[in-house]
Amino acid sequence: MTKKTFLERLNDPQVFVLDGATGTNLQSRGLTKGLSAEVWVLEEPDKILGLAKDFVAAGADIILTCTFGATTIRLAHTTVAGKEDRINRKAVELAQQAVAGTDVLVAGSIGPTGQLLSPLGPLEETDAIKCFAEQARSLATAGVDLLVVETQFDLAEAKAALTGIRMKTDLPVVCSFSFDRGTRTMMGLKPSTVGEEITPLGVAAIGINCGRSLEDNQKAMGELRESTTLPIWYKPNAGLPQLDPDGNSTYNLSPEEMASQVSGWISIGAKLIGGCCGTSPDHLSAIAKEIRK
Ligand SMILES: [Zn+2]
Repeated sequence: MTKKTFLERLNDPQVFVLDGATGTNLQSRGLTKGLSAEVWVLEEPDKILGLAKDFVAAGADIILTCTFGATTIRLAHTTVAGKEDRINRKAVELAQQAVAGTDVLVAGSIGPTGQLLSPLGPLEETDAIKCFAEQARSLATAGVDLLVVETQFDLAEAKAALTGIRMKTDLPVVCSFSFDRGTRTMMGLKPSTVGEEITPLGVAAIGINCGRSLEDNQKAMGELRESTTLPIWYKPNAGLPQLDPDGNSTYNLSPEEMASQVSGWISIGAKLIGGCCGTSPDHLSAIAKEIRK
């Protein structure tokens, strides 16, 4: 089957369905809190495949690989240190297995390194660029359809990621930020600054993912919309986290409550819609139905 590419889809009038959460869904399937989901790519591949298949069944047009933290720097102090390339390739293979026989695309997920860039932190820009370049090469070689730099909070790190990616591949790239302090990122970055700074860098879409409440994310999207003409990628959390007695986070919105907001998101300008933390396959299914009704 010849699939329409990501860039071709962006020119279509319709809104596309992304996937839901990786971390919180894997935790509800037994991943120990605090353990990197990437460990499961090698140790519990069937669980990773199962979740990806559930998102495809729920109606996703694009699913993400389980590679958010699969960089040299982020895995350095885990039990899978040094296995980044293997993890990235295996995660792509699992995602491709989940979409086999469908026209669903696979997006390679690239998250932050977990370290602050110099001069605020210990990470040199050249090392950050190299780290992102390596991950982009692994994901691109394994055959992803696009790359998503997500949950970004610092312009310098996002730019390092985009620079590193472009050293290795011409694949379309989405760059998505997490506004987890109201409508600002952890570093105080505004959506309008993100739009102004990232739009000229050759990305295919700009995104908002994770963050805090739906209300704050929606405000952030309004500000972002004013500052860019690029398509908007939108993956908010299923409301706010609440700690249960076992110390696990649950998110307070039901699938129906989350889906009821979808038309509002589309009217602001969201072109690609899924969910971040707390978004189960049931949430995604309700969102997909709302988008396609
Ligand atoms: Zn999240």
